[in-house]
Amino acid sequence: MIIVMKAGAAKKDRDEVIKRIKELGYKPHVIHGTTRDVIGAVGDERGKLVLQSIESMHGVENVVPILKPYKLASKEVKFEPSVIPVTSSLAVGGKRLVVMAGPCSVESEAQILESAKAVKEAGATVLRGGAFKPRTSPYSFQGLEEDGLKLLAKARDLTGLPVVTEVVNPETADLVAEYADILQIGARNSQNFALLKKVGQLKKPVLLKRGMSMTIQEFLMSAEYIMSEGNQAVILCERGIRTFETATRNTLDLSAIPVLKEKTHLPVIADPSHGTGDYHYVAAMSCAAVAAGADGLIIEVHPDPERASSDGPQSLKPKKFASLMERLRKISQAMDRDL
Ligand code: PEP
Ligand code: MN
Repeated sequence: MIIVMKAGAAKKDRDEVIKRIKELGYKPHVIHGTTRDVIGAVGDERGKLVLQSIESMHGVENVVPILKPYKLASKEVKFEPSVIPVTSSLAVGGKRLVVMAGPCSVESEAQILESAKAVKEAGATVLRGGAFKPRTSPYSFQGLEEDGLKLLAKARDLTGLPVVTEVVNPETADLVAEYADILQIGARNSQNFALLKKVGQLKKPVLLKRGMSMTIQEFLMSAEYIMSEGNQAVILCERGIRTFETATRNTLDLSAIPVLKEKTHLPVIADPSHGTGDYHYVAAMSCAAVAAGADGLIIEVHPDPERASSDGPQSLKPKKFASLMERLRKISQAMDRDL
């Protein structure tokens, strides 16, 4: 249920409503709007009609049911797009597009520092790099783990770029959160509900990738798992889905971008690297994603893709990435966005 407070309602009234929601066995989530606050009361769907009694409380405008199965992620609860602060100078979801770039995996100090400097110079605003890698094969490179996190922190110190890196299980989530500015949940873990709940309890923005066979509704339900634990800072990422097509690694579902924008207030970015699996197609799909309304991109860039430990074939060399950024500047202008 959504409890809509009257415009200018007193804080005392809001606190009373929150108290009552808890007494009734529901979890309150306050969403501050420009003119009024709304409070989402989430919990057992079956007994939710008891919340209707809140309508008679002081300062309450009305109580309305949330019809979608995802509640906090839905536009029914919050119509204005969410802007998610990452650092004091960077946010995701505002007018400025965010470009996260860097290698698939952190491999060595030289590799991550060179990548970080190159993507920063080209205009990227976040450094990506996996320290814990969820690989399809147990024999593939699994990442440098904590040493990789330390190298990412070093690259951040050197360039000032905040860092996004993947969390693969609840046991190492606190460790990753000590180093990362944004916690990435990968496609393979996008319905690992224990992990989603765990990052929901941490105070760091979460980049949630779409699972490879996930419907949009399932994607938003995964976001809901994170948000229902108290963390509203979720960034959605379309990274390609499995289809019958084999000419590309995945099929980047560009239509997911406007569809998600219609259904949720959360920012949406696109990953054309995993979306195509081939560096030749990354520039075209990056431009297309921005034109489709994405709030940003996450792109794999490697100084020596032929020797990369993972995802070399889809990684751009720094020079190609820099020229892509030039093209993106023109597209972002046409879309009335800054880059
Ligand atoms: C990655 O970002 O390197 C990655 C493993 O992505 P995904 O989870 O989308 O496959
Ligand atoms: Mn990768």
